[in-house]
Amino acid sequence: MLKTRVLTGDRPTGPLHLGHYVGSLEERIALQKEAEIFILIADVQALTDNFKNPEKVSDNVRVVALDYLAVGLDPRLVTIMVQSQISEIAELTVFYLNLVNLGRLEQNPTVKKELAQKEFGKEIPVGFLAYPISQAADITAFKANLVPVGEDQLPMIEQTREIVRRFNRLYGNILVLPKASISKVPRLIGIDGNEKMSKSLDNAIYLSDSPSGVENKVMKMYTDPKRIHPTDPGHTEGNPIFTYHEIFNPNAEEVADLKKRYRGGKVGDVEVKHLLVEAINNFLEPIRRRRVEFNENPKLVDKILKEGTEKGKQVASETLFEVKKAMKINYSF
Ligand code: ATP
Ligand code: MG
Repeated sequence: MLKTRVLTGDRPTGPLHLGHYVGSLEERIALQKEAEIFILIADVQALTDNFKNPEKVSDNVRVVALDYLAVGLDPRLVTIMVQSQISEIAELTVFYLNLVNLGRLEQNPTVKKELAQKEFGKEIPVGFLAYPISQAADITAFKANLVPVGEDQLPMIEQTREIVRRFNRLYGNILVLPKASISKVPRLIGIDGNEKMSKSLDNAIYLSDSPSGVENKVMKMYTDPKRIHPTDPGHTEGNPIFTYHEIFNPNAEEVADLKKRYRGGKVGDVEVKHLLVEAINNFLEPIRRRRVEFNENPKLVDKILKEGTEKGKQVASETLFEVKKAMKINYSF
């Protein structure tokens, strides 16, 4: 049987947060011993909506790499790569551009949502609209058959599958058809109650937040807007403090008891939040410890990125060779 080959990644637009952990990192960690995992720090994709501010992207490449190492992704088991340094991906993107029509890109529900948030107005960069095509290049360059993602990425995987089918039909069976795998928590709510915790929405608890940083954010968190006094019966469904308790507080009995008391108007937000601060800080503790180790050794982080990128480039160039051959542009002169 074909070994599972995974491609995942993140845009280096800021540090990674709890949503990344439960939406994707956790699964990568679980898979790293049994599957071959390629992890892409997608700086080219991040530029599609940050091209006026390239430092934001380049400054965050090492930040994201440190987050990976801090959560326990092991560079001996996984390949961590920087997208812009693997030009083969850009070449594949150019070929795939022909296989997708404009209407299809405009219908992508995630892109639509993001366009509304980003307020490009009438000046939508073509690169942004086409980023799902470059994601297809990311995935297929490494012949990945599995892509663990949060829910927002499902339309991208669907787009990739369409490109793969079309390419293979037109030019021969070269590309691997990938499947998405959705985590237990496909979309973690933001601290402001927005449906998605996201770097761009400024509603995130970061894996690198300090204990007091976590406390400040949690104490300000959005809860049940209809509840004014601690004696009012409160809603726990869709209430982010309880969503987070369910995920990050390993003491299920405590969580069940808090919910019951909250619904009965027998516990205040403050107590629930204090216990949440404790749970999240306990969860982040081993991540903080590992981060300190790598932080003290920036040369090691650079070496991991260099070696990972070189390995990725090798794999991607093999795919590009086959793609060009299939497209009959492998001239012998
Ligand atoms: P940006 O705002 O720059 O787009 P982001 O916070 O959306 O950043 P990405 O780098 O776009 O993060 O996402 C990387 C991966 O993490 C994707 O697989 C995405 O589905 C997943 N992810 C991001 N946010 C969440 C979340 N709140 N819940 C679950 N998964 C998430
Ligand atoms: Mg995103």
